[in-house]
Amino acid sequence: MRRVSIGIAVSWFWLCGSALAEELPAVLMIATGGTIAAVADGQGAYVSGELSPEVLVTAVPALAEMARLETQQLVSIGSQDMTPVIWLQLAKAIYQARQSEPDRAIVITHGTDTLEETAFFLDQLFPTGAPIVLTGAARPATVPGADGPANLLDAVRVALSADSRQRGVLAVKAGQIHAARQVSKRRAEGVAGFESPNGGPLGRISGGQVRFFRAPERLTQADLEPDLIHELPAVAIVHVHAGASSELLSVLPDLGYKAVVLAGVGNGNASAGMLATLGNLREKGLAVVRSSRSAAGWVSANVEIDDVALGFVAAADLPPAKARILLMLLLAFDVEFDRYQALFNQTRPIDWPQLAEP
Ligand code: GLU
Repeated sequence: MRRVSIGIAVSWFWLCGSALAEELPAVLMIATGGTIAAVADGQGAYVSGELSPEVLVTAVPALAEMARLETQQLVSIGSQDMTPVIWLQLAKAIYQARQSEPDRAIVITHGTDTLEETAFFLDQLFPTGAPIVLTGAARPATVPGADGPANLLDAVRVALSADSRQRGVLAVKAGQIHAARQVSKRRAEGVAGFESPNGGPLGRISGGQVRFFRAPERLTQADLEPDLIHELPAVAIVHVHAGASSELLSVLPDLGYKAVVLAGVGNGNASAGMLATLGNLREKGLAVVRSSRSAAGWVSANVEIDDVALGFVAAADLPPAKARILLMLLLAFDVEFDRYQALFNQTRPIDWPQLAEP
């Protein structure tokens, strides 16, 4: 009799457990590698992306009580190996997932080195809708004080929060929530390496609660179908420094580059010699965008440089790597060059689906 009761009790708990699990909100976790999935060798070295997403989830038992997590391993790389081709693969995986389950939030685990670029790229394609949250870690999963489990838990919390909607793609790390356009890895190492130099983080996760400092401001906008982007053209970034030579700029057309972003000094500036070479590149048909190597601020047109006369574009608040992504998309969609400056200045999302209409 006792055995029967235990059997009934176990079945009841199992049934309740699966019924409860069914009621939990669904989250798709797409893993791309990074230190969050790294195994350390005990001597300070490690290889990114060694652990599967299932292992990462198992390390955070609280997740099972919060969400029904489906996992997908897209690639297993250190994010220094991220490429535009993988961005498009990731975008297609997200687009398909949102077509079948539009309300399901998505968490992406990613190396922190280029996380801000992937976040900005995805923010262009998926400006609103169910939250898309990227997270990573500074320390490998197997070392004492690994920050990955807490960051993953926070990322899922943010993904599940109704307050995370209408804010675009988000990055979560070290208890902070950042907007894709602003987030930047400002320290080469350390658990708190992310900052939003223009405006600060959007919010925090504290005491397990997701709190935003400002109201959401995004207007509802459709996803952009990644299949409309056939190729992201080659765009170079050239870094300016005292005494920089124009030689690197001069070879870009022969190497097949369609455009160049200047990581300029101050207000996206460069020496008279470099500016003259950039003018020649523009005459050869390459697009030229002036960004800044400075950590924060707004690069304005027509201050020390006559951008209208030279046909250059100022990158506004976009740092070089993000200016490059916007430029690649403008080129991919064959947008008239005359519209570039206004689209760089526009901090609200560009309506790519509308731009892409024939
Ligand atoms: N190379 C690593 C990566 O970006 C850096 C550390 C990290 O994962 O955060 O994948």
